[in-house]
Amino acid sequence: MKMLIQGQLEDAQGAGVIQVANPATGEVVDSVPKGTREDAKRAIDAASDAFKVWSEKPSIERSRVLLKIAELVRSSVEDLAATLTLEQGKPLGEARSEVNSFANTCEYYAGLIGRERGAHTQFSTGEGFFIVTKRPLGVVGAILPWNFPVSLMGWKLAPGLAAGNTFVVKPASTTPMTDIKIGTLLAKAGLTPGAVNVVTGPGAVVGEELLDNPKVAKIAFTGETATGRRIMEGSAKHIKRLTLELGGSDPMIVCDDADLALAVEGAAWGRFRNCGQSCTSVKRLFLFESIADEFIKAFAEKVKTIRVGNGMEKSTHMGPVHTEEQRAKVESMVEDAQNRGAKDLVKGGRPTGGGLEKGNFYTPTVLTGVGYDAQMAREECFGPALPIFVVKDLEEGIERANDTPYGLGSSVWTKDVERAYHAAERIQAGTTWVNSPPISRAEVPFGGFKQSGFGRELGIEGLDHYYETKSIQVLEYGKGKKWAFPIS
Ligand code: NAD
Repeated sequence: MKMLIQGQLEDAQGAGVIQVANPATGEVVDSVPKGTREDAKRAIDAASDAFKVWSEKPSIERSRVLLKIAELVRSSVEDLAATLTLEQGKPLGEARSEVNSFANTCEYYAGLIGRERGAHTQFSTGEGFFIVTKRPLGVVGAILPWNFPVSLMGWKLAPGLAAGNTFVVKPASTTPMTDIKIGTLLAKAGLTPGAVNVVTGPGAVVGEELLDNPKVAKIAFTGETATGRRIMEGSAKHIKRLTLELGGSDPMIVCDDADLALAVEGAAWGRFRNCGQSCTSVKRLFLFESIADEFIKAFAEKVKTIRVGNGMEKSTHMGPVHTEEQRAKVESMVEDAQNRGAKDLVKGGRPTGGGLEKGNFYTPTVLTGVGYDAQMAREECFGPALPIFVVKDLEEGIERANDTPYGLGSSVWTKDVERAYHAAERIQAGTTWVNSPPISRAEVPFGGFKQSGFGRELGIEGLDHYYETKSIQVLEYGKGKKWAFPIS
């Protein structure tokens, strides 16, 4: 596959390629160019030229292009979803829903653009008035992770293009293919050539050029908190605008009055979707003492029904971990918890037989009796292993929930609306779901507290992050005498 610069599919200036492997089989699926700084510069120049055209288009035209993009993506859903499963590993059903969510996000922002209101206000001194309006930022560097390469590209492109910005997208090196395919659909939708470029290559090369290059006005980054720190440092030189969507260690609190059957489903969905590799996966489960035994029994039964396999097979519920490196990290966190006294409620590990040993599979793991000093209790566990903790009441649950450097998602399960609000107001997280697993919606702003990042994607707030606020001050004729110089 080739990368996309100024609407053309191209090889890199250097001769290198990056091989893309199927996490379920270890087989090479395809390769993409190993982009250089020169390639990134050409893409930035193309986006900068395209900005002059795209940002001047009437918003109704930008809206129509976004609707056309959504239509083209929806009509290619089967091909795009299969590509996503091959490179990322998630089951085909999840891949389809991710591709459709890209289209949803485009439709949402197509509907929003041109319908916002600015403000026109009289000066307090009566000399005139001011208008507050919005201007697009310019070229945006969108740096993507491998866990949701398609939907997270949509969270950036859709509001950014709606607002009149242009893009250089840097996909994760292990999941570049579906992003390139979507990139090539954009030209067919009438997007200005060069308005979206997709440059493949290492973060330390292509990503760093996006940080260094003064023509890039903003970095929209999703990825690990450690990489987010580097993005902040690298953006400081040119004071780039930033949105950082980083890691999480999301708590789920199940109260004694919760619908337990619903909560069991929610915990399974929340932890094992995408093989536990969502930023908002349920990563710590807190159960009230009085319902803990009943919940644990039902949850263990549920988890044992999860079928692990190749995402291309219909019978698969959960695919492989994305890379061997990720699998080793999950395994080491499980061992750390076990060494500190945790017990296996559902024992997982590396499966063998049926060809599974060729992929990065790790079967669902649930641990009880996990100490609060365990890595799983403090850091992000990015895979299919869940620690369960027992708490005496909501206050203890909230206190424990807040006891990490992260603050991305969270959930509380109760039939009591007062309890739900009480918890939601006190849990330090960008989102609290009530009686629901973590589901993102185009109209709801999403982002983190604390070290889970800042800025918001999605919703009206998501659009605001692709604008500068512009104030225009107008003096009414004959009323400006007060500012005559010299000042008396
Ligand atoms: P990562 O930080 O390793 O990589 C993300 C991207 O950054 C990749 O494209 C990578 O090439 C690039 N990169 C690496 N070094 C760079 C540098 N020096 N300069 C510029 N770019 C650089 O993250 P990942 O492993 O791909 O993704 C998993 C992480 O993402 C998890 O921590 C997860 O919680 C987080 N995540 C957060 C959200 C959210 O919305 N908050 C959503 C999804 C994933």
